[in-house]
Amino acid sequence: MHKEIAFLVIFSSVVQYGEQRKQISIGIFLDDDDQYELSTIAVSSIVRRINLFTRTDYLLRPHIFRVSNGDLLETGQLMCQLIERGIAAIFGPESPEINEMIQSVSSGVEIPQFQTFWNPKLASTNRSIQGIFNLHPTPKGLSQALSTLVRENDWNSYTVLYENEDAVLRLQEALKRRSPADPAVQFRNLGSKDNHRTVLKEVKSSGVLHLILDCETAHIMDILREARELKLLSEFHSYILTNLDAHTLDWSEFKDVRTNITAFRLLDTENKNMKHAVLVWNQMLKYDWFGPVHNIALQKELELFRKKKPFSEIRPHDLHTKTALLYDALNLFISVYSELDTKEKLTLKPLSCESYETSSHGRKFANRMKERNQELPLLLEPLTGDMWKFDQNGYRSNYKLQIIELYATEFRMTATWRSKYPNSITLALTEKDRDTELKEKIQQRTFRVVSRLGDPYLMQAVPPNGKSLYGNDRYEGYSMDIMKEICKPENLNCSYTFELVPDGMYGNYDPKTKQWNGLIKELLEYKADLGVCDLTITYERRKAVDFTMPFMTLGISILYAKAVKEPPELLSFSHPLSFEVWIYIATSYLIISITMFLVARMNPNDWENPHPCDPYPQELENIWTIRNCCWLTLGSFMAQGCDLLPKGISTRMVAAMWWFFTLIMGACYTANMTAFLTMSRMGPTIESADDLAAQTKIKYGCLEGGATSSFFKDNNFSTYHRMWVQMESAEPSAFEKNNKDGVKRVLTSKRKYAFLMESSSIEYEMERNCELMQVGNNLDSKGYGIAMPNNSPYRKSINEAILKMQEMGILHRLKDKWWKEMNGGGKCTKDKHSTDAEAAEMGLDNVGGVFVVLAAGVILAFLIAMCEFLWNVRKVAVVKHLTPKEALIKELKFAMNIWARKKEVTTSGLRDISLETLEPKM
Ligand code: GLU
Repeated sequence: MHKEIAFLVIFSSVVQYGEQRKQISIGIFLDDDDQYELSTIAVSSIVRRINLFTRTDYLLRPHIFRVSNGDLLETGQLMCQLIERGIAAIFGPESPEINEMIQSVSSGVEIPQFQTFWNPKLASTNRSIQGIFNLHPTPKGLSQALSTLVRENDWNSYTVLYENEDAVLRLQEALKRRSPADPAVQFRNLGSKDNHRTVLKEVKSSGVLHLILDCETAHIMDILREARELKLLSEFHSYILTNLDAHTLDWSEFKDVRTNITAFRLLDTENKNMKHAVLVWNQMLKYDWFGPVHNIALQKELELFRKKKPFSEIRPHDLHTKTALLYDALNLFISVYSELDTKEKLTLKPLSCESYETSSHGRKFANRMKERNQELPLLLEPLTGDMWKFDQNGYRSNYKLQIIELYATEFRMTATWRSKYPNSITLALTEKDRDTELKEKIQQRTFRVVSRLGDPYLMQAVPPNGKSLYGNDRYEGYSMDIMKEICKPENLNCSYTFELVPDGMYGNYDPKTKQWNGLIKELLEYKADLGVCDLTITYERRKAVDFTMPFMTLGISILYAKAVKEPPELLSFSHPLSFEVWIYIATSYLIISITMFLVARMNPNDWENPHPCDPYPQELENIWTIRNCCWLTLGSFMAQGCDLLPKGISTRMVAAMWWFFTLIMGACYTANMTAFLTMSRMGPTIESADDLAAQTKIKYGCLEGGATSSFFKDNNFSTYHRMWVQMESAEPSAFEKNNKDGVKRVLTSKRKYAFLMESSSIEYEMERNCELMQVGNNLDSKGYGIAMPNNSPYRKSINEAILKMQEMGILHRLKDKWWKEMNGGGKCTKDKHSTDAEAAEMGLDNVGGVFVVLAAGVILAFLIAMCEFLWNVRKVAVVKHLTPKEALIKELKFAMNIWARKKEVTTSGLRDISLETLEPKM
């Protein structure tokens, strides 16, 4: 540390001129830091203005000391020397130990001390200390301003990074959580420089996006540099700097950083008083208005400063708060002192560190300060606003802080906080201004979009003529079109680049490793700005990243293969009754026919007179031969009836029972036949998730590591939980790596596997694969959204664009394009109509068997006719003494003569030899 102590008497010429004027000595302790020169200039300028231009009877005699932390002993000696000279007030220094010492000496001898730095200890010191005035914003005020800003910024949680314990003292009161609704806050000690990185890494892994940085001005840049290296300086992070001098730093190296960096400032760098003061200082430097400075060391300092900074290069931004406050403290002191002296004629008596004697003016000055009110003017314009009130502890109690935001390389004011209204801030930038700014910012943005391949959201584009494709041209699909629409000039007017997520996953949290994968991981690591694909908005993901409003709504459903229509069998008409039943029917037919025959033989009523005209017949005749019995039962079975009917009660009973039997059997057959014909239209055997869960024949699964699997895993509803257990224990695995594999498995598993998939993807597959179907309703309802890192400034604008697209029907149009038109879409819509029409009418396949039976029956009848014919030929040959061949030719000729209506009788009474067809007698 620079050990030089400068002892200064300025303006010796003025001293000569003002010998008649009352001399007021003041002690100024300046810290040995980079504000030393500026402070010297500030002091020189105010002394010069007071001594030369204001109409006071005083001559200010400043004694300036440059002190550093270790100079406690020497400073003590200097302090005592000053007291012995008789001084009116002490100013500074910031160095805590030296200040402590000076504070105790000056309060002991009752010499007013002006402090220009943050001093939380003043609040806890003995109230009896009179005459200590601290112009710096109070610790309480600062923390109130901070908590108001945090509240206005809507931070839900944040971390305070601090360098020393004082910060906790300073901020904890205002930042502590009073209700669960207050944001959660964490305090982290930055420790030494070597420790910063470790702490920042911890901050990063905690995922906190809002930070309050409390550190010395000189350390701000180093800490932010490290934060930038660790990607803690993204546009999704926001910082509040508690340091009031952040505006003095050179921010040019952070000009590309999109982080919101906010700070407080006591000085209004745009204020006219400030500009004027700085102008004067520059002129003093330029024209050497310091006069002959007796102190060679200070002369040298000023020379150095002039060389280092060319004239007029002091800017309001170079001024630290404490330097401006030193200027204001001198102004305040001389204004109050001169006013008091006019009334009370103060004297500055030499004192001693060894004695207990106190100054004669100190107490009066302190009382006057307490009584001060707004009306009492200052001799010069203040740089840090009004200073008319100090509280019991000596803190300044009225001031205003500017809330400033880093914009490119400089800070600009966005709001104001006043100590009078600690719970509110006054905005300087309206919401509209902010929106306009954001729009401009977006227009310059190229969003890094991360996505994954999956039909029809993102697919590899087919290169025309085998050419290679680059950039966004490599892909096409719904997601690409959505981004195209969002970035249109009428929306965000932005640009974007699509990249694929390395692991191809959507985003799943592993509680063991405490890591996310897939798209969510990319966003959390700020490797991408947006995640666009069929990414489901889930509660867990929402906790990690932000989502826009949903651009598509859907639900989990069951994808299953349609029942394959088996070609109907030839004898399918027999299917309504089982083979067994047919056998039983045939047996019953025979038994009933025989029963009928026997019963009819036994029943006297069925023995009839063969010649009804003869009342006394010799013999009776029974028509119920076995042939006739069979004919009756067959006729009634076929619902055709028969011209022979029984007459006896018992035979009628047998016939009636048979008719009853055939009635019921016929009805059953018809009903079952209808059911069989509609069977193919009845669909699958499962109709809901409950059906699926209740059986074990059909296996089912879903995509691994997606929202669907999470739905089943985390669901406590018994059916879904059971389904999850089933899926997990299935061998081979029921899970698939992607939807495509799931669809393939459904198609190839012959209805032994169902895939739980999101309804939008099911719709897409069903448009192209007509063998697929959706079973039952959706199990839940959710949506796809565009994901982005938390706290993204673009969320609002993208939401607006999505809403607009939804209202204008663009989203619907895009869905139709990728679902129904592109890549073979719409195929199954046509198929669906044709199958419906088909189902309405029966094809030949269904009734072919009936034709076959008919044909077989006719052929059989023909064969029997042939046999009967040949049998008759044999008889004709015997009776007519012809060779069988002659008889055959003769009979054949006759049979072929279709015009012959009569045939000669071959043998009288032998009807069975040749049936005579007699012409009806006229
Ligand atoms: N859309 C789902 C997700 O975002 C993936 C598909 C699924 O799980 O069915 O995780």
